[in-house]
Amino acid sequence: MIGVKGFISGASKVTITPDRSVFLAGLSNNRRSTGVHDDLWARCLALSDGEETLILVALDLIGLFLDQVNLIRGEAEKHGLNGKDIIVASTHQHSGPDTLGLWGPDPTTSGVDEDYMAYVRKRVLDAILEATGNMREAVLRFTSTKAPGGVARNSRNPGVLDPEISVLNVETPKGETIAVLINFALHPEVLWSDNTLITADFPNYLYATVEEELGGVALFFNGALGGMVTPDVEEHTFKESERIGRTLAEAALKALRGEAEKQSRDSGLTVKRETLSLPVENQKFKTLHSLGVIKRSIQNYEITTELYHVEVGDAEIITIPGEALPEIGLELKAKMTGSIKFLIGLTNDEIGYIIPEEEWSPGRYEESMSLGPRTGTLMMRKILEMLQDP
Ligand SMILES: [Zn+2]
Repeated sequence: MIGVKGFISGASKVTITPDRSVFLAGLSNNRRSTGVHDDLWARCLALSDGEETLILVALDLIGLFLDQVNLIRGEAEKHGLNGKDIIVASTHQHSGPDTLGLWGPDPTTSGVDEDYMAYVRKRVLDAILEATGNMREAVLRFTSTKAPGGVARNSRNPGVLDPEISVLNVETPKGETIAVLINFALHPEVLWSDNTLITADFPNYLYATVEEELGGVALFFNGALGGMVTPDVEEHTFKESERIGRTLAEAALKALRGEAEKQSRDSGLTVKRETLSLPVENQKFKTLHSLGVIKRSIQNYEITTELYHVEVGDAEIITIPGEALPEIGLELKAKMTGSIKFLIGLTNDEIGYIIPEEEWSPGRYEESMSLGPRTGTLMMRKILEMLQDP
């Protein structure tokens, strides 16, 4: 295939379900799992135009620090892959293992099981090797649509929402589905703190609905879901989780049946990566880091994280390393020029909430889970530089 400017693509999915009781992440401390409702997954889509390669991984996890992503990249490089081609995002589901340290038996004891972390890294590598090992000629189609009402609401700033569902369909020239990638901003937290069963939350039903209709591998990438884009549900039940997952999937499938835009074979792939340094001003994060609860590199009260800007044909992807508020997501999308825009959050890192500086109000929940008031401004400045860089 090398030398041909057409796309090749492969996809895979492997389970990452823990085989033991774990501290469940995202809500209260000391919430131990008592069983498994549905599997957690590492889902991978590899894409190449013969020159550049992009390997996208979506994990049914609360989040993963850059240190873990870099360990996965290091292993992948031993298999001849380029670590910088690998992008690992989390769906941010709230009924899975603590992979960040914040939800252990008490607030100052990590809930991370290091054996499980090693298992996840190995399984992600398996998924990457399988997807890159089965790449074949592919046709890409992009589309977007609006989510219907009753799916998402903003509990911090009611009414501020990005309703866009962005969709990438990858198929063989004969029309066999390789993968369907869906990007939408919404906390997977239909199941709440009274739930002790492991579940991928609404993405579980989204995967099933897409794969029942089209086959292939369905992937879900979250967006600017911060402060606080939450499911619009009557109750925190699996029934409601199913309704949200199926509603999103059906909207995406309907859009694909319409006029999804085909990318011409010579439209190419460009992948740009930038690092971003951010001050850690949150005293709680500093304390938890010094106690070893948060195991992420912090040097001189500063972290270094990553941003990606990808162009696939006429479509465009930006990745951000945490949970941006929808105000930031909407501002970014307004600056993007791609025909279809994907804004993927919790990618290659989880730095917490990313709040517009003018919106910062100390003492609120999202602020307590953010690096500091300048995070949004510094990230936005760097992304705008990337967008302007030809
Ligand atoms: Zn969150």
